[in-house]
Amino acid sequence: MQNLSNHISIAVRSLFSGVMDLIYPPICLCCEQRLEEYEKELCTSCLSNFKLLGKTHSKFSVPGEIYLDTAWALFDFDEAFQNLIHHLKYSRRRKSVGVVLDHYQKAIYEQLSHQTFDLVLSIPLHPRKLRERGYNQVDDVSNWLGKLLNAELGSHLVTRIKYTRSQTQLNAAERSENVAKAFKVSDPSKIENRQILLVDDVLTTGATANALAAVLREAGAGRIDLLTLSTPKF
Ligand SMILES: [Zn+2]
Repeated sequence: MQNLSNHISIAVRSLFSGVMDLIYPPICLCCEQRLEEYEKELCTSCLSNFKLLGKTHSKFSVPGEIYLDTAWALFDFDEAFQNLIHHLKYSRRRKSVGVVLDHYQKAIYEQLSHQTFDLVLSIPLHPRKLRERGYNQVDDVSNWLGKLLNAELGSHLVTRIKYTRSQTQLNAAERSENVAKAFKVSDPSKIENRQILLVDDVLTTGATANALAAVLREAGAGRIDLLTLSTPKF
């Protein structure tokens, strides 16, 4: 009987999703063409058009001391990728970034595998911001990287204690000032001597990540690197 009701529930669910697909056929996030059954979020052609950069750089436009060892940006900041990041922040279709990461998994692993990481940390949102958005848009990327690199997730070890105003209109010095003393480490013993990978969606000046790196360094962290999905800086 249990088995039969399971079968019925599976049949009803797949009928429902079939009907939904007829009413709202799944379309590619980039080109808006109808997706094939085997495609998820993006069509094969758009998926293979993202450009993986894999460049490290250390030219931060942050005044004062730099606490980050290196920063990576994974993908070219072209129109298609900017669209993807917009969806990551503001829509229900945020899972598309995971589809892109899976597609480029081998190449991403090759870029990162020469280094050991103990902890992967999303740049935390202030609790108020987290409530407004409902999720930290970077957490999915951090989870994905944690699995890829066999590293622990450490996002719970840091908190954002200062509600900072939006950074978009600020210059580099104002950004640094805005995020100074914005973060707190909850348990320094879990940070001490660890190799840490910070994760963010977009690298602009690096001021936010550097402010977080400063408190991690104070807590005794070893290397601190930053990985972002993309950056308009190249
Ligand atoms: Zn497409």
